[in-house]
Amino acid sequence: MQKASKFFDFIKSLKCRLIVMAILLAIIPSLIVGNGILFSYEMRALSIRQSEVMGQARIIANQVAASNYMSGEKTGSETLLAQVNMLTSIYDGRVLIVDDNFQIIYDTYNLDDNKTIISDAVIKSFKGETTQIYDSENKYIEMSLPIINPNDETKTVLGMLVVSVSTDNIALNLSYLTQIATVIVFIVILVVSFAGVLMSIRMTQPFTKLSDGIANLHGGVGDADLMVKDYTETIIICEKFNEMMGKIKVMDESRQEFVSNVSHELKTPLTSMKVLADSINSMPDAPVELYQEFMGDITNEIERETKIINDLLSLVKMDKTAAKLNIENVNMNELLEQIMKRLQPIADKQNVQLVLESFRPVTAAVDEVKITLAISNLVENAIKYNKIDGEGWVHVSLNADHQYFYIKVEDSGMGIPEEDLEHIYERFYRVDKSHSREIGGTGLGLAITRNSILMHRGAIKAHSEVGEGTTFDVRIPLNYIA
Ligand code: ADP
Repeated sequence: MQKASKFFDFIKSLKCRLIVMAILLAIIPSLIVGNGILFSYEMRALSIRQSEVMGQARIIANQVAASNYMSGEKTGSETLLAQVNMLTSIYDGRVLIVDDNFQIIYDTYNLDDNKTIISDAVIKSFKGETTQIYDSENKYIEMSLPIINPNDETKTVLGMLVVSVSTDNIALNLSYLTQIATVIVFIVILVVSFAGVLMSIRMTQPFTKLSDGIANLHGGVGDADLMVKDYTETIIICEKFNEMMGKIKVMDESRQEFVSNVSHELKTPLTSMKVLADSINSMPDAPVELYQEFMGDITNEIERETKIINDLLSLVKMDKTAAKLNIENVNMNELLEQIMKRLQPIADKQNVQLVLESFRPVTAAVDEVKITLAISNLVENAIKYNKIDGEGWVHVSLNADHQYFYIKVEDSGMGIPEEDLEHIYERFYRVDKSHSREIGGTGLGLAITRNSILMHRGAIKAHSEVGEGTTFDVRIPLNYIA
């Protein structure tokens, strides 16, 4: 099983592909060149043979025409026939002399004398044409030419000369050359395959270095300085890898910071409760009023702990269900009214005036629970970090265009210093830690708000002037963009 998977790993590897490529690059050109050479040799040898034989045949045809052989006068034709026989023996062939009645009057094989021959080629030659055919299967060339006396102005065809010569020796040469070519191609393939294996091992070495380098990065995340300079590609991979490790390091640091922040925040109320409980325990005769006061303080700390845990749960939920929003069409005017109504008691307690201004009816596709959480946090902050002299106000407005709806939360509070503005969305970030804790802040509210708005593909921006107040501008698409 493991062997099979190793085999498939090898098949899929760059090494294997390089070897296959090298072999193909050796085989294909060798085959093309080899076959090309063999084919052109065959064509050239055939055409030389044809023109040689044709030349000889023409001479013989002229001599036959010049003699009286065609008119039946055989005496004195020995020299002529000796030439004919020589031609047949040189080229391993056969010559037929055919008269104008298509009767064979001379056959060098002495097989078909006095027989009649009627074939396309002979008929054509009777009409004065010369034909030649190459029969590659039976390996011979056949020519047929008219016998015409060169001095006869009327060009009367006296008969036909049919010559067929064997091309066996050309085929023999060809098969010998094919054998040599096969051996050469085989040697080339062997040499190139060997070179291909060496080359592929050499070429894939940088990737082995790369994976070894990654494997040797002990100790998890850190400043990775991986570098394999062999190829531009490996340099780019190393750079991207180091960049990614840097990002992971930042993420890891922020995770560690988050965990330590969470532990610290959860420990604080517990420490207070322990101090309060210890104090009461050390005073067995304390009056009931003191007990009640301490128990009241302990209850406050429990509430605080609960709030931190609830906020943490909201945050975790948003991180986890980033893709899972429960989108439905929500009347935003009504939703804002409900939020304001719910927060009115807190505003009253702080002596802060709450005003809602709706510029137009707005219905948007949002997750009602998550949007409520986001807006509530903003309005609650605007109340919490406001003046306590009775002059404080919070203005919330709702507007929309054809694409987005806009919520503005403006307050007359203490404001946020410029250098803190970019950090206020971080988890547990508080401008004034002790003040925030005093008024029941967890430092998670704006992180929740921003997460929720980003999940809706929206944006949030804050402007603030210390001592004057703060404005949060929120923009969210009317239709959810998945
Ligand atoms: P908290 O629970 O402490 O309010 P948030 O995440 O909601 O945490 O806010 C982070 C910090 O930003 C707060 O501690 C506070 O210092 C500051 N802040 C938020 N909203 C306002 C505001 N409207 N006016 C002044 N400061 C604000």
